Amino acid sequence: MEEIPESHPRYESLMQRHRIEAGVEKGLTSRQGLVAQGRGEAFDYLLGEQTIPSADTAERVAAAHLLDADHAVLSVNGNVAALVPEELVDLAETTGADLEVNLFNRTEQRVAAIADHLREHGANSVRGEAADARIPGLDHERAKVDADGIYDADVVLVPLEDGDRAEALGEMGKTELVVDLNPMSRSAEVAAVPIVDNVVRALPNITAHARELRKTERDLDAVVANFDPDDARGAAEQQIRRGELGD
Ligand code: ATP
Ligand code: MG
Repeated sequence: MEEIPESHPRYESLMQRHRIEAGVEKGLTSRQGLVAQGRGEAFDYLLGEQTIPSADTAERVAAAHLLDADHAVLSVNGNVAALVPEELVDLAETTGADLEVNLFNRTEQRVAAIADHLREHGANSVRGEAADARIPGLDHERAKVDADGIYDADVVLVPLEDGDRAEALGEMGKTELVVDLNPMSRSAEVAAVPIVDNVVRALPNITAHARELRKTERDLDAVVANFDPDDARGAAEQQIRRGELGD
């Protein structure tokens, strides 16, 4: 991997590109994932590459949902596996959530490679290889999930999910937490908690909120109450529309 000087104004963004590229080379990320990252970058640029206050609030609400769940699952695709493997493991451990590999372009090889990658980063158990249940309303390959994983979960965190699948999961009655830099994306629109932020910032911040909520034994219902997903998406859209194009 070629060196990027930390002083480079696009250092963070270039590092993310490198991680996605390396993910493709390691067989974790699909080539489509490169395009998805590019789309995300454009929105992140307009947001000022920062966690805006409405996203921070959504991240805190997401942390409360994960802690309060009977069975929470973090859905892992090739992009997040490449970008934030340690952060996924950390969030799962902090909240007691399961990790499940769940791919749009599913191949058994890629599922296994991602599961191995997560284990290399400290995950004890990774679901997604059984694929013994189906999400209703989706075609066969795209519907596959684990019966004792996403199928059974009451709360699911889906970073960068495809709109169709996000919608189908919502229709199963699950509380869906979606991380997506595009507030107009269908995935964000169907989420109970749309988090308009880059996964590289969102995941560690959800974990930090979960730690704080646990320590202070806050009333989780009170944290979750009054959250309005449309307000959260609206605030992000406003920020993007008035975004100042600078460096
Ligand atoms: P749909 O309307 O069906 O939801 P989409 O616009 O989400 O379509 P995709 O390209 O399948 O289409 O999804 C990629 C999504 O993931 C984009 O909305 C993009 O903004 C978002 N994204 C990409 N990289 C990141 C990232 N690092 N962090 C957060 N979101 C990201
Ligand atoms: Mg989407």
